[in-house]
Amino acid sequence: MGDLKNIETRLFINNEFVQSKSEERYTVYNPATGKHVADIPVANVADVDAAVAAASAAYKGPWSKFSAEQRAACLNKLADLLDAKKSEIGQLETACMGTPAAIATHMLPPMGTKLLRYYAGWADKVAGESFPPDGEGDELYKIVQYEPLGVCAAIAAWNATPLYLGTKMAPAVATGNTVVFKASEKSPLGINVAASCVAEAGFPPGVINFVSGGGSTGALLAGHMGIAKISFTGSGITGRKVQEAAARSNMKRVTLELGGKSPAVVFADANIPNATEAAVDRFLMLTSQVCVAPSRLFVHSSIAEKFIATAKERFEQIGKSWGASSDPTSMTTMHGPLADQTQLKRVLDYIESGKQDAKLITGGERIGNEGCFVQPTIFLDPKPDAKIYREEIFGPVLTIRTFETEDEAMELANATTYGLAAYVFTSDMGRALRVARKLEAGTVNINSGGGIDVRVPMGGIKASGSGREYGKLGLMAYLEPKTITMK
Ligand code: NAD
Repeated sequence: MGDLKNIETRLFINNEFVQSKSEERYTVYNPATGKHVADIPVANVADVDAAVAAASAAYKGPWSKFSAEQRAACLNKLADLLDAKKSEIGQLETACMGTPAAIATHMLPPMGTKLLRYYAGWADKVAGESFPPDGEGDELYKIVQYEPLGVCAAIAAWNATPLYLGTKMAPAVATGNTVVFKASEKSPLGINVAASCVAEAGFPPGVINFVSGGGSTGALLAGHMGIAKISFTGSGITGRKVQEAAARSNMKRVTLELGGKSPAVVFADANIPNATEAAVDRFLMLTSQVCVAPSRLFVHSSIAEKFIATAKERFEQIGKSWGASSDPTSMTTMHGPLADQTQLKRVLDYIESGKQDAKLITGGERIGNEGCFVQPTIFLDPKPDAKIYREEIFGPVLTIRTFETEDEAMELANATTYGLAAYVFTSDMGRALRVARKLEAGTVNINSGGGIDVRVPMGGIKASGSGREYGKLGLMAYLEPKTITMK
């Protein structure tokens, strides 16, 4: 791509890039340099209505005539086209959000296309069930078949847009639905590279549509009467609004992938280098703008002094490369800036509150005055009601507490409204499995920092969301069972 001057910013409806009917624009700035990247349209009610109408016509029309094999072929072709454009996608993600190029190019787009292929494979494998009459007097034969829902909307967070295309769009179209996709206002550009491939992949007009904008556009989707399902990834506060709008409008189905405040519990018998790598180094990945980041670390008191000293050393070592010299466009940079000024201010506000509520071990300051960089920061022994300990920060701020017993560790780990992920480090497998049962989380990782596997469901319990993405459950979320009885 190279030329950031000719960036496509229009909406994509009916297989065409179209001007928004809205005059409203917002500006994306590069968070590493502060430089202007693009002015983006805020899709209004007329735009959203047009996208939903296109998706609805495609759902009832040409897309309903495609066989499962044909739908799979479109998804596979789109995956091939996107693989060839991963550098272009990566460059735009890096420009918008400061995601290091190595991640924006070589990690997130391939994960997205892997999901497209995975769900293509499912397209012709959704079977139903049948129940013959049961006992004397039952004359009914029952068939349960799984049907697509109709027009589905996807609203995404900003930290991994190419991946969300795979988790949300792929299972929807594999099962015969059509889609209106809204990327986050912080990362609206890479997705238009995907849009430019949709027609060539063979999708009829209207099957996949993209609208840009922030909360106002998202709210139009959440409350739209023509949308049958919404899949949302974002914060708990917005997730609640989406749930409410869905209930107030047409009771559309809702999948919520929300935030977390995930615990990592390190027992005295843990393999310490492994626990350090998985819970400390990896916490800083994507500058800790990761929903499953282990942001509350609990360490057994007998190893606490050494472990905390090591964590401090690792944070300071990794943090040395942060700041103006860490150019996210370089393939060797592994940690970029925070996504934008809003996120920077948010993280700095949390750090300031942390200075009142806990002991600062390392970090605690902004780096430089231009890019959105902060020092990787550790707080020890936060007050139980401290904001830094209770609320998701989505930035490189780790809290550490010590514990004496397994019961105490479980109580501390579960004392949160969230339930997305949890991590446990011990060499006692009996304890590991016992603790995994007790931890209140959608995913528990034993002696590992976890990872994404397209076959395995991911999602949260408690206030971290509802429903699952990935795997068969992620597919079934786009199907409605219908029971047919026959005499
Ligand atoms: P956010 O809630 O601010 O925004 C998410 C999306 O919602 C954006 O596209 C935004 O435009 C849209 N939106 C805003 N107001 C809306 C409204 N009223 N109605 C409908 N849509 C609206 O979240 P964010 O800052 O983009 O992302 C960070 C959050 O996402 C964190 O909480 C993080 O943990 C969470 N997240 C969760 C997962 C997961 O899989 N569980 C993955 C990544 C991020």
